[in-house]
Amino acid sequence: MYFDLRHSPERVERIPVPTIYCVGLNYLEHAQEMQSPRPAEPVIFLKPASSILHGGGQIRLPAFAQEIHHEVELVVAVAEACGSVSPEQAAKLILGYGIGLDMTLRDVQARAKAAGKPWAVAKGFATSAPLSELIPAAHVASPETLTFQLLVNGERRQAGALKDLLFSVPALIAYLSGIFDLQHGDLIYTGTPAGVGPVYAGDVLEAELDGYTSLTVSVA
Ligand code: MG
Repeated sequence: MYFDLRHSPERVERIPVPTIYCVGLNYLEHAQEMQSPRPAEPVIFLKPASSILHGGGQIRLPAFAQEIHHEVELVVAVAEACGSVSPEQAAKLILGYGIGLDMTLRDVQARAKAAGKPWAVAKGFATSAPLSELIPAAHVASPETLTFQLLVNGERRQAGALKDLLFSVPALIAYLSGIFDLQHGDLIYTGTPAGVGPVYAGDVLEAELDGYTSLTVSVA
């Protein structure tokens, strides 16, 4: 699977995705709405690269699940292979920014949490990672002030600001690089702000990153 990096209106670069890293509970108000404590270190899970759904596509609710929630998130792409970098070095390793949805089978996740089992099914099912085109990091003058939002059927459901991240984007890349061998094109879903909730067949989800890029998908 891949993402598209839009360098200019005319030039789009298609980049393969080795791995999708996701961060849970990275906004305090979302941790509170999930009745989870503020995490002492980043909460990391993965989605398969095949779970990417590009704009215009349809999210498919698996037959074994009853409840699917939206989680709108800033997504960053890693510029080059790296390991054990500092946050200062990590700030220079951001290839681009996009907006994505960490679609979550909340009932399946709740059962997994209660049983102490992994979240792979709840978070990694096919079409669970809707993703916009990305824009090059160099096009964003002050990424720490970025904001984003999610509309469902035209109604605003979530709004986020990067200044509210518990673990900043450079801190996340530095943290991940101390565990995994990060690769060019790896994606990081950086966590969702408060306001998550269910969507239903026929709903239209529009996610938008500060006028830079946007994503529209529907629920099958
Ligand atoms: Mg999430």
